[in-house]
Amino acid sequence: MRLRVFNTYSRALEEFHPLDSAGREVKMYTCGPTVYSHAHIGNLRAYIFEDLLQRHLELRNYKVRRVMNITDVDDKTIQGSRSAGIPLAEFTLPFKQAFFEDLDTLRIKRADFFPEATDPGQIAAMIEMIQTLIARDLAYQADDKSVYFRINKFPAYGQLAHFDLSELRSTGRVKSDEYDKEHVGDFALWKAWDEEDGPVRWESPWGPGRPGWHIECSAMATQLLGEQLDIHCGGVDNIFPHHEAEIAQTEGCTSKKFVRSWMHCAHLMVDGQKMSKSLGNFYTLRDVLARGYTGRELRYALMRVHYRAPINFTWEGMEESREALRRIDDWVARLREKAGEENVQRPTPNVQRPTEEGSGFEDALDDDLNISGALGVLFETIRETNRALDLGKLDANEANSWLQWWERIDRVLGVSGEENAVPAEIEALGEARTQARLAKDWRKSDELRDELAARGWEVRDTKDGQKITRRAGV
Ligand SMILES: [Zn+2]
Repeated sequence: MRLRVFNTYSRALEEFHPLDSAGREVKMYTCGPTVYSHAHIGNLRAYIFEDLLQRHLELRNYKVRRVMNITDVDDKTIQGSRSAGIPLAEFTLPFKQAFFEDLDTLRIKRADFFPEATDPGQIAAMIEMIQTLIARDLAYQADDKSVYFRINKFPAYGQLAHFDLSELRSTGRVKSDEYDKEHVGDFALWKAWDEEDGPVRWESPWGPGRPGWHIECSAMATQLLGEQLDIHCGGVDNIFPHHEAEIAQTEGCTSKKFVRSWMHCAHLMVDGQKMSKSLGNFYTLRDVLARGYTGRELRYALMRVHYRAPINFTWEGMEESREALRRIDDWVARLREKAGEENVQRPTPNVQRPTEEGSGFEDALDDDLNISGALGVLFETIRETNRALDLGKLDANEANSWLQWWERIDRVLGVSGEENAVPAEIEALGEARTQARLAKDWRKSDELRDELAARGWEVRDTKDGQKITRRAGV
């Protein structure tokens, strides 16, 4: 079966063929974080979908060349640095670091490049693109000194989002400060400096200012991957205006089709509601870890739903993910034990490849990353091999062969191996309990034990001191 993906541009499932004439290299661009706060689980869902896509392409022997940008200048980052009273770069640095920590905790493979918007080379590339667009009459400088894209001169504008330009007029999108634009839908390529920007400014042919968000991605993508990409990903909320603008800018400069396949993942809800700080259901990875869950458990929870279906994040769902991973762990442990019985040499060249079920997993992912189908194959396999083990009908060679199959598909899932590391928050509670016990404050010690239990951790007092482990059956 050939890999098929759903292309937002055509609204159709299409066979995937890379631009590379040898058919092996895949150029992939993924919109990255805006570093004014920690990523929330909705952002993380998109990153995990993109990771699954990359890993599956690699399993299918494609060589993925991937870029993920870091937006470290925009209204929110500037506002954040102003209210913190520190320079922009100092304000964004800890959020950049936290972003990379999140990737590691969630076992997300690193992109080949993480360009930053404030990189002088990237700013120069953005300015150059804007100059080209002005020269082609696709952009203009307005009276407010900002430079805008002229959407009326780009007939394809609106095709990705599938809407009619005339609709824009009636939506009341006009902001009072945008009266200088020729068309209400014209978007900023270069934003002229104003007092609110403080020291954040770059020189340009149009005076001091900063680039718009959309031109950032067009410039970075073409700088690092060339004028044409195989796959561009993001969340559905990136479709308009961000990705629509990326197409207009890039194709406006190159006159070439920018992206072959546009892939977007759906929204994430929490307990059936839109995630928001005011509802108290706004979660980052840190919030999930503080409840005693691990990175791989969240990875699994965000990965197990098809990327084009909305995810409803719940704590029960986290429990189900924990249970699913436990079943996998137990199965792998059982197979290892069986394989070890006859001291099988690995790899074993004469071992048969596991049955059709084996390739069923990969076939399901070929079908627009049908993860539920793939996981269905995995759990059916687990059921059947466990039954065969119960009946003594699975020998060491077969067990070994299934282990090899598992190792292959786990290159895509990335969930094997228990995490034994105790999170810092849990360590701190344990330390507080040790102190309480030294002070013979038994009530406090019990309270802390209950607190740890509520978060899914068990405390045992041994002769070597206190031991904290994940609670069984939680
Ligand atoms: Zn982008």
